[in-house]
Amino acid sequence: MKQRIEAEQLIPGTGRPVANGAVIVEDDRIAYAGPAADAPASPDATVVRARAVMPGMWDAHGHFMGLRSTDFTFLPQEPIALRAARITTDLRRALDAGFTSVRETGGLGIHFVQAIEEGSVEGPNIYAAGTTLSTTGGHADLHGLPRSWVVDFGHMGGEFRLCDGPSECARAAREQLRRNAKLIKVCASGGVLSDVDHPIHQQFTNAELRAIVEVAGMADRVVAAHCHGKPGIMAALEAGAKTIEHGSFLDEEAAVAMRESGAILVPTRTIFAELLDQGHMLPDYALKKLQATVDRHGEAIILAREAGVTIAAGTDVAMSGTDMPDSWGKNGRELELLVKLGFDPLEAIEAATALGPTTLGPQAPRSGVLAEGYDADILTLDVDPLADISALAQPEHITGVWKAGRRVKNLEG
Ligand SMILES: [Zn+2]
Repeated sequence: MKQRIEAEQLIPGTGRPVANGAVIVEDDRIAYAGPAADAPASPDATVVRARAVMPGMWDAHGHFMGLRSTDFTFLPQEPIALRAARITTDLRRALDAGFTSVRETGGLGIHFVQAIEEGSVEGPNIYAAGTTLSTTGGHADLHGLPRSWVVDFGHMGGEFRLCDGPSECARAAREQLRRNAKLIKVCASGGVLSDVDHPIHQQFTNAELRAIVEVAGMADRVVAAHCHGKPGIMAALEAGAKTIEHGSFLDEEAAVAMRESGAILVPTRTIFAELLDQGHMLPDYALKKLQATVDRHGEAIILAREAGVTIAAGTDVAMSGTDMPDSWGKNGRELELLVKLGFDPLEAIEAATALGPTTLGPQAPRSGVLAEGYDADILTLDVDPLADISALAQPEHITGVWKAGRRVKNLEG
């Protein structure tokens, strides 16, 4: 099947935009993208016309948890089937928001990969980490619950896996590979939504981090390291982690180390903005930590950008339901927030398209770019996002979404 999308503004994902562009799709691949005047004739193609066309977006940091509380202690208290039912709606919301690919940095998404592939549910491409690896007492532990509950929860397919010591860490990483995880996620520093740990403190020893990176690397997988504080960032980089998630307290030395090692920053500005907007919904401990982190986080992103660190867009969206903060469907807000920090709109779009796959290292698919041979994951808009980046945060402006050449959203009726 052949399709031709013509648009006044074609944004390829990388490189300069093209005025009066055309994208020709053959089956699940892009056969041509460029000036409409140079496009091969395609008399048998169905034709769509739009104001703008660009690649389907990537969220390089999201969680499918089906959670309707900002208090993670609810996670093991609700049946996984209930949370999975909520996720089916989140998957649809991601597509409607123009996100055709999600790098899931820990969650239930690993179970949805097959369901989506076989057509049981509609959803984006999910590249899943499986269970988040954490130290005992670390960011992905539930400090107010008996440790044995958290351990049981992890073994039942829940989101968190506690591991301590290099050999147990290696085993925990192998458990995720056994589930066909496409990356490994670790908490290398404390967090904001966890109770007693401190965001600045390093979690996992250097030896533990090295063990995880080594196991992942043998299977061509990268390690994504949740880090706020500098000690965790430096330890993760030294061990060979590919991406630093959040990076709130990175300074010049850390930024240079990231650039030199080719590590990518996934800043997740959205969760900070979303939670701050609805601070009353947070547990007290989380609100205090958020307020102590949010300004520094903005400065860290600016500093990283100026130092030449590669930045890929991720949101840390995790909740279910439009009434919840940080919920699926709001993913496009990240681009607007990056532009507020000084990004050029084209640069923000590149962070959410062409740079998305790079966060998967050797597992990166040919996606995120409008060019011959790439996956036909595409979106169209009724406004030009280079003139108004906030349009990408408003699903009503995203008139069409294609995943692997199949149209999965159509606002034109
Ligand atoms: Zn996260």
